[in-house]
Amino acid sequence: MKIRQENVSATKWDSNGSELGSADLREHSSHPFGANVFSPAVQQERLSSETYSKLQETLATGTTLDPALADEVAEAMMAWALEQGATHFTHVFQPLTGLTAEKHDSFFDPVGDGTALAKFRGKELVQGEPDASSFPTGGLRATFEARGYTAWDPTSPAFLLENPNGALLCIPTAFASWTGEALDAKIPLLRSMDALSRAAVRALKLLGDEQAQRVFTTVGPEQEYFLIDEQYFYSRPDLVTTGRTLFGAKPPKGHELDDHYFGSIPERVLSCMLDAEAELAKVGVPVKTRHNEVAPSQYEIAPVFENSNVGSDHQQLTMQILQSVARKYGLVCLLHEKPFAGVNGSGKHNNWSMSTDTGHNLMDPGATPAENVSFMFFCSAVIQAVNKHQGLLRASVANLGQDHRLGANEAPPAIISIFLGAELDRAFESITTEGKDATTEGSMMNLGTAVLPELPKHGGDRNRTSPFAFTGNKFEFRALGSSMSLSFPNTVLNTTVAEAIDDLSDQLEAKLSGDGSVNDAVAEVVAESYNANKQICFGGDNYDEEWHAEAERRGLKNLRTTPDALPEVIAPSTVQAFENYGVLNERELESRYEVWLEQYAVGANIEAETAREMARTMLLPAALRHLAMIEGAGVSSLSSEARALIDEFAEAIGKLEQANVYPDGIEGMELAEFARDSQLAAMADVREVADRLEKVVADDIWPLSKYSEILFIK
Ligand code: ADP
Ligand code: MG
Repeated sequence: MKIRQENVSATKWDSNGSELGSADLREHSSHPFGANVFSPAVQQERLSSETYSKLQETLATGTTLDPALADEVAEAMMAWALEQGATHFTHVFQPLTGLTAEKHDSFFDPVGDGTALAKFRGKELVQGEPDASSFPTGGLRATFEARGYTAWDPTSPAFLLENPNGALLCIPTAFASWTGEALDAKIPLLRSMDALSRAAVRALKLLGDEQAQRVFTTVGPEQEYFLIDEQYFYSRPDLVTTGRTLFGAKPPKGHELDDHYFGSIPERVLSCMLDAEAELAKVGVPVKTRHNEVAPSQYEIAPVFENSNVGSDHQQLTMQILQSVARKYGLVCLLHEKPFAGVNGSGKHNNWSMSTDTGHNLMDPGATPAENVSFMFFCSAVIQAVNKHQGLLRASVANLGQDHRLGANEAPPAIISIFLGAELDRAFESITTEGKDATTEGSMMNLGTAVLPELPKHGGDRNRTSPFAFTGNKFEFRALGSSMSLSFPNTVLNTTVAEAIDDLSDQLEAKLSGDGSVNDAVAEVVAESYNANKQICFGGDNYDEEWHAEAERRGLKNLRTTPDALPEVIAPSTVQAFENYGVLNERELESRYEVWLEQYAVGANIEAETAREMARTMLLPAALRHLAMIEGAGVSSLSSEARALIDEFAEAIGKLEQANVYPDGIEGMELAEFARDSQLAAMADVREVADRLEKVVADDIWPLSKYSEILFIK
């Protein structure tokens, strides 16, 4: 009988990495929140009071930074970093790869007498010049002007990343071309936050709030991920190369028993989580919740919400730290959207809201009539934005991995709709219905005369199947993929909601020029907007086939795959909203469209090539050995079964090999569609036969570790 060596050693690990010299995590002092952040507290201590207050003012008002401050800030930042053992600094940025990029520079410059001096000047803090030629730009930056530049984002605090052998000062930056076009995920997000702030402050003034100077969008992401033993990871070329298994039959036990969700967390995994959380705390990521997810070996981590920019940066850090800390425990963290076919994939819930600088959450229905009025206004704007830009929102969560997940009855469908909940449905219906029903208990006859019923923030009225759900004091956009940056989905939300707020404000302004009350005017605006957009609201089961038919009758978009969805990025309604608000111009949008299409096609091609190679050089030979064994034993009934399967397999591989040859001269959308319809389809056929083979080939001959091992040996 065969015992795979890795099964045995996979279960052996050292608790809390003794040889790594890590801190004792049982000590509270080992979790110092923000210890490695160049936070306002540290700034106050180390900067002159004048510079400190100017910097804080810049951050609060969103104005540009006075370059004269930079030298002093740089000096203080370097001194702080050197004291904590840093030797290098880096401008971290988020190019269109969806990942975080960093290039390290030493603080130390040789001074000519054989020694070196630590130096970090304001201009090095404010601007870096990484060679941009290797980052995707979708044709935005011709190679002859291959320089991009990174610009310091003072609104996202700098921090130290520790390594057993030193520390690195990380400075969050934006990344643009020499001509000022955005080449990254952060610039449009910042621009969209400004746009939303302007629109919301204007609306608040109309609604009678003169206090608010700035409105911040907030984001609290819930991140799902898998942790598997690294030996399985490294034994599988598909996991190593593509982040997901391209082969693997369904195990006898999956999550049918529903015994994993919120189950007790295995010791090794918990140790890893505690360590990752301690690291995240040090860099100021406010991690709050952890639990088991539905699939075996699947988990979730969620922080307390922050403003969208800092929250997005922290989310990138969370993914990075989860992956690096996992390795200390002999684990690999999988962030792919669908690492195991037939097993639930991983997504990311994007909780989103807007808050004033005076602390008012605009998505909180509040307890007073005035708060209710404001809430209904802003809530209508969200409904209008999501309805108008439903295709773009869908496109904002499109990638190769998502195509295996969205619509697969474990994640929202590709159709965007909004779940408001019974109370809010009733509230909207009651202002839009003529001869308002005064008898319904808790209903709002008209805005301002009755108070909204207390909406449950937690509790049963939850629709887990909805892609976009109101959850008490925020909206939860549930369709993001686990590997994604939060930036673009939030850029889309902020920009489109800004547009809707301004549209409703225009209407409100026109009505206010008459002599009705603000409340009556808001009620009218809300009623009109809701009536025009309510087809996007759906409270039923989003997994139900009937919903797909109903959605079609309502005229909602159902963009099933990434190539179907991406054209929304350059649709006229997108260009108009994004240009109006100065978030991305048409060229910048086109560049994203091209980059994302290319990433899809390249990703699919890598998968198809990997699948071909594994099928041809690992699985087919295994099947042939199995056949030889049967023939050696002379059992003819079994050998004809095996032969038939092998013939089928060889034929499917042949078709995949053909599909892996691109037709001449296709590119862009044509190539993406070819990848989807030819390569991925041929790959699925190969896999289907391979997974049947896995069930019959002798276990000691089958060369790949199986789902029953990867997902269950902990
Ligand atoms: P539940 O899932 O039970 O509603 P919470 O309300 O605590 O749990 O929030 C879940 C997620 O929503 C957390 O990541 C949290 O940070 C985030 N969240 C809560 N309030 C807001 C808000 N105003 N804006 C953005 N995210 C929020
Ligand atoms: Mg969840």
